Amino acid sequence: MKLRLASNALGAQMTLAQHLGLIPRPPPLLTEDQWTEVHLRSRLRQDSAAECVICKEEFQAGAQVLLSCSHTFHRHCLAAFERYSRCKSCPLCRAEQYQKRVIRDGEQLFRDKCATRIQAAWRGFAARRRYRQLRRHTAPRDERLRRKWAAERLQASGGRHEGAGGDGGMPEGRGGA
Ligand SMILES: [Zn+2]
Ligand SMILES: [Zn+2]
Repeated sequence: MKLRLASNALGAQMTLAQHLGLIPRPPPLLTEDQWTEVHLRSRLRQDSAAECVICKEEFQAGAQVLLSCSHTFHRHCLAAFERYSRCKSCPLCRAEQYQKRVIRDGEQLFRDKCATRIQAAWRGFAARRRYRQLRRHTAPRDERLRRKWAAERLQASGGRHEGAGGDGGMPEGRGGA
């Protein structure tokens, strides 16, 4: 027997039981404007920046769904929840007969975060390298550190100067007789 019958006015599929009024009919499908509003509500709460409440993990690059009640979950987490609970109600607000659509907010945020981390790591590396070069070429003001620095420089360039036989490249005045 064919249980799925003609759709209602806006295209939502109805079962025989729904046609006979045994269980409530599904609400009409959300319009594009309504979806935009639902999406906006989710964004204002920054849900995608937080964790998926089902698995308590960040969205990262995993597939993500937005429900018509404006709550968002991993797609596979919601599918598992639907299977396990055997009903279609939002795990957060218990809204029933929700509609869902795939969104990429979490993925976008994750990409931005990764890019920021890579940039920060690179900037840190570049700054440390620049600082090391600066230290190598600039004598410290403190007398004791200056001696240490000069000794290090001498040692570093020792091999080259030995071969040259003292060509006047030695650092001058070692701080008083
Ligand atoms: Zn999840
Ligand atoms: Zn909800």
